[in-house]
Amino acid sequence: MPVEDAYARPLRNLRVSVTDRCNLRCAYCMPEEDYVWLPREQILHFEEIAKLVDVFLDLGVDKVRLTGGEPLLRRNLPRLVGMLAAKSRLRDLALTTNGVLLAERAAALRAAGLHRITVSLDTLRSARALALTRRDTHAQVLDGIRVAAATGFASLKIDTVVMRGVNHDELVDLLEFARTVAAEIRFIEYMDVGGATRWSMDQVVGRDEMLAAITRRYGRVAPIIEESSAPADRYRLPDGTTFGIIASTTAPFCARCDRSRLTADGTWYLCLYGRQGIDLRGPLRAGASAAELQALITGGWRRRTDRGAEDRLGLRERAPFVPKSQLKQDPHLEMHTRGG
Ligand code: SAM
Ligand code: SF4
Ligand code: SF4
Repeated sequence: MPVEDAYARPLRNLRVSVTDRCNLRCAYCMPEEDYVWLPREQILHFEEIAKLVDVFLDLGVDKVRLTGGEPLLRRNLPRLVGMLAAKSRLRDLALTTNGVLLAERAAALRAAGLHRITVSLDTLRSARALALTRRDTHAQVLDGIRVAAATGFASLKIDTVVMRGVNHDELVDLLEFARTVAAEIRFIEYMDVGGATRWSMDQVVGRDEMLAAITRRYGRVAPIIEESSAPADRYRLPDGTTFGIIASTTAPFCARCDRSRLTADGTWYLCLYGRQGIDLRGPLRAGASAAELQALITGGWRRRTDRGAEDRLGLRERAPFVPKSQLKQDPHLEMHTRGG
């Protein structure tokens, strides 16, 4: 039985950030000029990550997603994938990437045992991609998606953050593109997380508005009813194509949230909006046994009462979650550190 938190939510899903560095500067995640990086000596080695993952598996976790920053920037990532894929209790090993380096890495990741891959893609227009990410890498990302589609992963997903005035007019084009590479696309509402220092509610395109736009083009959009802790609500178009919407801002799914996040330096966060994390690197490097680490993690999860996105929903005046000055003092509050 997995450990349960104060609201009986099980500990099932672990997101492991393997680096806080990134080769893009997405406007909704890293809009600033300068960032404070985690000190290199504090970044967990692969053996340390694997040891912590074992402790999480003991406690009921059975899904791990590697993320970042940009995870493909981490040297020898396929070695870590291989180490994790060898754990028989891990039912699902996935990776979220911006796709820039994917064309050259997809085969090695697949060979190492990665099951599923999600690529972030917000636009099909190169000029928009350049403005949104501040890097000229759009062709590489599209190439990465096509190569991944041909590499034989169990599933390929595309994640799109939808922002009014930026890409809200591309939902149908992106759906059509996803279809050509047999990927399921998920449209994500723009969130006021740490890092999103320029967030404002009027830039959020809510689920209902997205559904209305898609319905206008395709006719009936049928919801897919399923029991799942996954954040996406899934829908089916008349021709059978499926897609998802992650309504994290207007209709958060905290009530069934079974995920937590381990940063690249071994700080464990129980919520995307959590202000404080639990340091696992310190005890690990001080020689804590698996039982001691288990007790630390179990205690933290049992006390968990976080419902970050729901709390935000209740605010009358909504502004970015963390002021810029605070992000500089504690880079753990950044989305790119916490691992999205
Ligand atoms: N660099 C990789 C990537 O972009 O796929 C992995 C890390 S990134 C932090 C993980 C996910 O967080 C991406 O899909 C990104 O679009 C999403 N994200 C970042 N900031 C966001 C925001 N303000 N609102 C919604 N999603 C956001
Ligand atoms: Fe963009 Fe991901 Fe990098 Fe954030 S971490 S800037 S979402 S590519
Ligand atoms: Fe889970 Fe926190 Fe996100 Fe809610 S805001 S879904 S509790 S991580």
